Amino acid sequence: RRALPWRSVAGERPDPYRVWASEIMLQQTTVTAVKPYYERFMARFPTVKALAEAQSEEVMQAWAGLGYYSRARNLHACAKAVMEGHRGRFPDTEEGLRALPGIGAYTAGAVAAIAFDRPAAAVDGNVERVMSRLFAIEQVLPGARPLIREKVLALLPRARPGDFAQALMDLGATICTPRNPACGLCPWREPCRARAEGTQETFPRKAPKKAGATRYGAAFVLVRADGAVLLRTRPAKGLLGGMAEVPTSDWRADYELDGAAQDAPLPLRWQRLPMPVRHVFTHFPLELTVLVGHAPAAAEPPWGMRFTAKARLTEEPLPSLMQKVLEAGLAALRRPPSAP
Ligand code: SF4
Repeated sequence: RRALPWRSVAGERPDPYRVWASEIMLQQTTVTAVKPYYERFMARFPTVKALAEAQSEEVMQAWAGLGYYSRARNLHACAKAVMEGHRGRFPDTEEGLRALPGIGAYTAGAVAAIAFDRPAAAVDGNVERVMSRLFAIEQVLPGARPLIREKVLALLPRARPGDFAQALMDLGATICTPRNPACGLCPWREPCRARAEGTQETFPRKAPKKAGATRYGAAFVLVRADGAVLLRTRPAKGLLGGMAEVPTSDWRADYELDGAAQDAPLPLRWQRLPMPVRHVFTHFPLELTVLVGHAPAAAEPPWGMRFTAKARLTEEPLPSLMQKVLEAGLAALRRPPSAP
């Protein structure tokens, strides 16, 4: 929506494939961050058929850097399901869309409303904020969602429900912002209860967050004499599933760096970098200490791993955490060894 290209032609019904792909990308990610990925993704997979026929590595690689990688796996599975079960056409109802992999209540509502002009409620974080302020909803999230959905459905106009859905999301994103909402510009300033009470920023009500403990681990950047870097693929399920990474230890709150040599992929001389790489996942912060090493030209990769030429690293689906690790490790290996 908003700045994404499928909205550029006024009055034209947008392509459901593009609406769906952009809505999946926009989950937990801002329009500004999504835009370049969306454009590259559409250039590479211009149709649902092209996406369904792609190799999963290609899809993960096009997604690398956007985070929340289960979305990419679901996107691919959903494209296949549309090709195999619906002859390449997206179902045009909320129920039909919800039956597809990776499509939850929000995405089904958004695609049904925007692409098919169905009277559906698309409740994202922006809409939750607007509704909870408009009606001063005291119930905390996520428990308040059914009530918020009810309120949206009650306001939904018969004419142009798709435009209403997008206008509501845009109102939340641009006017009814988390901090300093521009109430003076808001079409709902008169009926808004939170504005009348001056309590806008206290909504939506949320349960206090439980912060996860920091996890620690070691990451091994190994470069062979021909310049190739040792990589492996993470298991398909779970955090960063199916993405590429340098070998690492387990990530644990009680990880002992002194035992890192036992986690190394090959018994070599490893040099530890002084500054760890930090990354924040949704549920926990992570601190990886980078260890770098050189392997002889004849070194074979351990089972389940591979050497990738440096020039081909951009073709690997490396999440931003691993890009940071590699950047730190390769920079250290380029520096001449310090004098004793
Ligand atoms: S009046 Fe203010 S708080 Fe209420 S919906 Fe509009 S922007 Fe949000």
